[in-house]
Amino acid sequence: MTKSNESGWNFDNSYTKLPEFFYSNTNPTSVRSPEMVKFNETFAKSLGLTAEALQSEEATAIFAGNDIPLGASPIAQAYAGHQFGHFTMLGDGRAILLGEHITPTGERYDIQLKGPGRTPYSRGGDGRAALGPMLREYIISEAMHALGIPTTRSLAVVSTGQPVIRETNLPGAILTRVASSHIRVGTFQYAAKWGSVEDTRALADYTITRHYSEINDHEDKYLSFLKAVINRQAKLISQWQLVGFIHGVMNTDNMTISGETIDYGPCAFMDTYDPETVFSSIDARGRYAYGNQPGIGGWNLARFAETLLDLLHDNDEEAVKIAQDAISEYPELSRGYWLEGMRAKLGIFNVEEQDETLINDLLNVMKQYKADYTNTFRALTREAHEESVLQGTLEFNDWYKRWQERLSRQEQSKEAALDLMRKSNPSIIPRNHRVEEALDAAQEDDYSVMNKLLEALANPYDYTSVQEEYCKLPDSTGLPYRTYCGT
Ligand code: AMP
Ligand code: MG
Repeated sequence: MTKSNESGWNFDNSYTKLPEFFYSNTNPTSVRSPEMVKFNETFAKSLGLTAEALQSEEATAIFAGNDIPLGASPIAQAYAGHQFGHFTMLGDGRAILLGEHITPTGERYDIQLKGPGRTPYSRGGDGRAALGPMLREYIISEAMHALGIPTTRSLAVVSTGQPVIRETNLPGAILTRVASSHIRVGTFQYAAKWGSVEDTRALADYTITRHYSEINDHEDKYLSFLKAVINRQAKLISQWQLVGFIHGVMNTDNMTISGETIDYGPCAFMDTYDPETVFSSIDARGRYAYGNQPGIGGWNLARFAETLLDLLHDNDEEAVKIAQDAISEYPELSRGYWLEGMRAKLGIFNVEEQDETLINDLLNVMKQYKADYTNTFRALTREAHEESVLQGTLEFNDWYKRWQERLSRQEQSKEAALDLMRKSNPSIIPRNHRVEEALDAAQEDDYSVMNKLLEALANPYDYTSVQEEYCKLPDSTGLPYRTYCGT
């Protein structure tokens, strides 16, 4: 165990005060020759960590799981989940929570190693992760953060010097993931299925204190909790929709109670607008297609509500009714957040009943002409219509006229509308071909491509030449882009 604390770590381990049923004490398995390949200096500083000290050999040993920082008490967390609709026991099979770091301003963050070796929940797996997917998570999670979307973040990636065996041998790596917590819908499902009512209550009380402390003294505390989680998830998934993010594997174990995006496996950003877009190689039926995400969010939240039934009312029927009433609010909440965001993307400040039709008509034209999602809104924002494939089509011309009329009916000036659009329409997203290009170079030990991409992605709402370069679409290969899970 490292004695010195000059790195600024300030660990607490509140999760280990829950009943032991919720976790297993587990240490990472040492790796041969760890090397820091990516370190998030800005983020480290914002956590109150000493960036310089964290780039030392001792720090690398910590990020590799070869050493445990002072005050940390490593555990693997237990959880269950519905994977593609099927309920199963899961748990941290390839992740270990070192503990919770408390920042100088009192914020609490989970510090988790992803890929640190086997745990009691590993089942047949090796508990390891490959370099490519860990760097991919780093890029996309940091891009999501910069887009203003709640997400787990990435502090460091170390290569292990050991291969992981997948279809071929791949270089191994460990990602340090930082989250406001790793409590999932699946954590509650685990408690409800295999624990006592008191276990579920302990988890709920803990989670409320950690993420929703404002409702701690509510009379119907658990109902307020359920509603608050529904609200945060409705908002989160709407934010995904607004930027064209496809999570790819919205299993209930991959849905946080904090309302942060988690588990960057087969996720990717949509290019051509089509609600049926799926990138994941394992989602043959399109369960987690772009257009299905809000609905799946509702389905997952219903599974969450079921885990709270014993806490909602002593009478089973009453409890079900309370839960159903809360869940029934989700579609309208979700639609409301989406509409609000879509209005902003079109520079609309006030509310008119016909707005939803106006928005959907644009989306339909985009679908018809296979328009790029991000670049269509970017072109509208820059008033650079010649850049859009929609330019000159009858349908778009008609829509454009209605949109201009709509803008003229609001008090705000055209300038104010364009300003709102710039703040609401990212000019850059992590485009699949650019992410792949960065990962390919990194595999050859050249991190310059990835660093340059990350720099551009850090300011997604800027409209400068830096972003411009990343707006270009790939040359068509004729092959659909495919993403892979859990590798
Ligand atoms: P994920 O696809 O990351 O949501 O993982 C689903 C489940 O499989 C979780 O319980 C993971 O911990 C587990 N898992 C994924 N990859 C591995 C691995 N290489 N070794 C052990 N468990 C794994
Ligand atoms: Mg997962």
